[in-house]
Amino acid sequence: MATKTKKGALDWYFKSNLLTRILAGLVLGAIAGVVLGFFPDAVKPYVDNVKFFGDIFVRLLKMIVVPVILFSLIAGAASIAPSRLGRVGVKIMVYYLLTSAFAVTIGLVFANIFRPGLGFNIVGTAGVAGKAAAAPTLTQIILNIVPTNPIESLTKGDVLPIIFFSVVFGLGISFVKDSKNEKIAKGADTLFDVCNAGAETMYKVVGGIMQYAPIGVFVLISIVFAQQGPKAIGPLLVVTLTVYLGLIVHLVGVYGGLLAVYKLGLVKFLKGANEAIVTAFVTRSSGGTLPITLRVAEENLGIPRAIGSFSLPLGATINMDGTAIYLGVCAMFIGFATGNPLTFNQQLTVVITATLASIGTAGVPGAGAIMLLMVLESIGLKVTEGSAVAAAYAMILGIDALLDMGRTALNVTGDLAGTSIVSKTEGELEMAKWAKA
Ligand code: ASP
Repeated sequence: MATKTKKGALDWYFKSNLLTRILAGLVLGAIAGVVLGFFPDAVKPYVDNVKFFGDIFVRLLKMIVVPVILFSLIAGAASIAPSRLGRVGVKIMVYYLLTSAFAVTIGLVFANIFRPGLGFNIVGTAGVAGKAAAAPTLTQIILNIVPTNPIESLTKGDVLPIIFFSVVFGLGISFVKDSKNEKIAKGADTLFDVCNAGAETMYKVVGGIMQYAPIGVFVLISIVFAQQGPKAIGPLLVVTLTVYLGLIVHLVGVYGGLLAVYKLGLVKFLKGANEAIVTAFVTRSSGGTLPITLRVAEENLGIPRAIGSFSLPLGATINMDGTAIYLGVCAMFIGFATGNPLTFNQQLTVVITATLASIGTAGVPGAGAIMLLMVLESIGLKVTEGSAVAAAYAMILGIDALLDMGRTALNVTGDLAGTSIVSKTEGELEMAKWAKA
């Protein structure tokens, strides 16, 4: 590994911007693949030789799925302090959960209309399309969510039961943190800190893996383009447009509608929130934007500190409507692109897992893409080496930065809209700020 003091031979790589590198991986991979496509005899030997470098990337990603879910969902659920869950807390939680579930649904609806990836028929290097999960019935889905043995689910990597257990465990911690028995309360605090640190650690690991992403993306994309030719560009464009359309509809329809119900104007809201939205768009981090979010809440939107200081950090941690839309659309894309269009029941599962995944998504750049792995696993589209699903996932990863900007902007907008509404219902919104905005 290149150290800071020595000038390493790979400095040009590690010191250049990661996003640029991933995008370069995508573009160069596409070009290499298209060129290779002109020499059909060379495709197979090429794939056989470079497959390893793509497979390693896929294995690294798979490696982190279970620990990421476990730590980040426990930490997310445990950050809801029951002591603060008074009327305001309950209202904002209901808002956060409902709007997120709605967001996934919007993503799914648009993906059903535009069908990104349909007819693309991506194939894996393993030569077989990813296998669709046999569609379970609704009662089966629900029953399967509850693990009979959480440890067994962890070792088997069964995503839904792990999610369920993590959320329940996290909620348990949040209650025990408030225990009257000081020793136990302290223990729960420590448990919470450990899970938080665990989540942070996993995101550090993800950061390390992402250093390899440009190479992994290059290899996987070059294989896709070598086998498919330039027709792979269209589906990616459709995914991007579908995600952005979903974001805009959610903004205008859901936030605009809800604000209107409480006699608050969307345009005035956007004027006030503008600085935070733009910051979120460029930083791609709700967490990083938080200081700005808090400031515009007070200064421009007249949100009282007592409410904003609780609900905005909470929102930046667990309320990710943009991410939810993205998860819905991308799960559908990967289903279509690999020839496994999602069944109705699979889509229902996506509503549940993507809502929960958005809660578990850290407010840092690219976190949603990791959660996409979990959503895919939950519907039986397993990202394994050489699978078509892995190739389709790599395509999404190649354009992730572009999608991340939009979804993060909506994530932050949602926190501010909800907090404005809850403040209004409490009669604590400083309306003078809205009059002059
Ligand atoms: N970047 C997003 C955020 O910070 C999370 C995500 O990747 O979806 O809100």
